[in-house]
Amino acid sequence: MLSENEYRKTKQQLENIPRDLPTKQQNNLKKLLKKKLHEHELASKYPPFQPLPYAQFFINYATHELTLLHLIESVQCSKKIILDTESITIPHQPNEPALIQLQLILPTSYSYVIFVEVCHLPREHDTTFDLIKLFFHTLFQFDKIIYIWGEIKELTKFIKFGLFSNEQIRLSNNINCQDEFKKYWQRNYPHKISSYGSTEDSQCNCESCLGINPQDPWSLQNAVAHKLHLYLDKRFTISQFDIGLDSQLKHLNDSEIKHRERMIHYAANDCLSIYQLILELNFFHHEQSVTSLSSHKSNKNISNYSFQLLPISSNDDLIVPNEYDIPSTSRTVYLIETPTVILDNHSSTPSQFPTTTNTSTKPKYKKELSAEERKKLHNKTCTLKQRKRYFRFQITREDIDKRFTTKQIKKILKQHNIPVTAVSFSSRTNKKALIIGLKEITKLSIYENIVADLFTKQHYEQFRNDKYKSRSSSHHHRSHLNHYHF
Ligand SMILES: [Zn+2]
Repeated sequence: MLSENEYRKTKQQLENIPRDLPTKQQNNLKKLLKKKLHEHELASKYPPFQPLPYAQFFINYATHELTLLHLIESVQCSKKIILDTESITIPHQPNEPALIQLQLILPTSYSYVIFVEVCHLPREHDTTFDLIKLFFHTLFQFDKIIYIWGEIKELTKFIKFGLFSNEQIRLSNNINCQDEFKKYWQRNYPHKISSYGSTEDSQCNCESCLGINPQDPWSLQNAVAHKLHLYLDKRFTISQFDIGLDSQLKHLNDSEIKHRERMIHYAANDCLSIYQLILELNFFHHEQSVTSLSSHKSNKNISNYSFQLLPISSNDDLIVPNEYDIPSTSRTVYLIETPTVILDNHSSTPSQFPTTTNTSTKPKYKKELSAEERKKLHNKTCTLKQRKRYFRFQITREDIDKRFTTKQIKKILKQHNIPVTAVSFSSRTNKKALIIGLKEITKLSIYENIVADLFTKQHYEQFRNDKYKSRSSSHHHRSHLNHYHF
């Protein structure tokens, strides 16, 4: 933050830019001073950005093989990766690429932030160089989504380091969060016409009223300020990110270490703040469910197995897998159902689940699909995998009474203390089979025995009668109380 004096001085400077300077220099100076003031205004208005817990790693010539192997395994486990890069300025030349930051979202409470120091790589014939290449090869795999504030094109400047190719970048699954954020803001914050007697609360947050040009992309700093109400320090934007941030690279004195620590925090916070914005916007989840729903309509030819996602309330009986890295307060759980789908074999062996069909066709499509199609296929695969998890242990109950609703079935199973993850149906000819996903199988035979007697025609009739009775008795109870009260 600037001192009062510095702030006043900067404002004065901005108002008195020397007219005798070339126009380009005038504009550059104006831009610089405006940025300084904007930085100060945000710093005095919002508390500093605080990241969620993470562990950091450096990839450079000093990185041990075992560390690289661990990072390759970690990127294999991670399905969502946030990417950012840093460059350095050289006078009268284009910016030079210097650093790639990656945040691996893992099913643990910690994420990994990895700094790839491209100006300090091992020699090309070293084993570790091949391991770094393998790390990127894994990163660009089909089953991962790379989230980036801007375009993935930003990575092409780094091709010259020999770690990955243009083709790999082009074929990656990536999402431009900057574009998505703009769409989100324009959708959710249209211009409000202020009415008479309007209070602070009704202040307009549309782009124009916030001083953001609707033609311009959002800066990460502004997004963090207006959505998270935090200040993301951007004073290091153009710094010497090529100096070697890892303290293992050379002997450093205290002030050199401090300087590097600040730059490391700065570089990490770019990824970490994108992550918090994604969580705040519930974007991981949104992306998956929306594209899955649309792929249901358009991608039928890829697999003849179709499914629907139905929102249900979170107090329902579903297990939420650990990979749902969204805060529990904003969690929406989806129940996966397969109405009128013909399964060739819905016996209780999990390996016969149709996901295998989908997986085996994947490589064939890999080269031919557009990025969007691959994203859809990816999301579909994710949902199928999730489904596979829910139905890892299952009981099939053939020929149930068709009148039972999903809600009723779940309620009945709960009453019988059967721990259910999800339920699903399959129909063949005019019979309906119920497939029950179980949380655990220690009492499988007991559950099977219970379920064998449930959901018959007689059961439905009995169930309906019980329901009628319980409703009328509670009604009676209520009127009795009212009577007493008066
Ligand atoms: Zn407005």
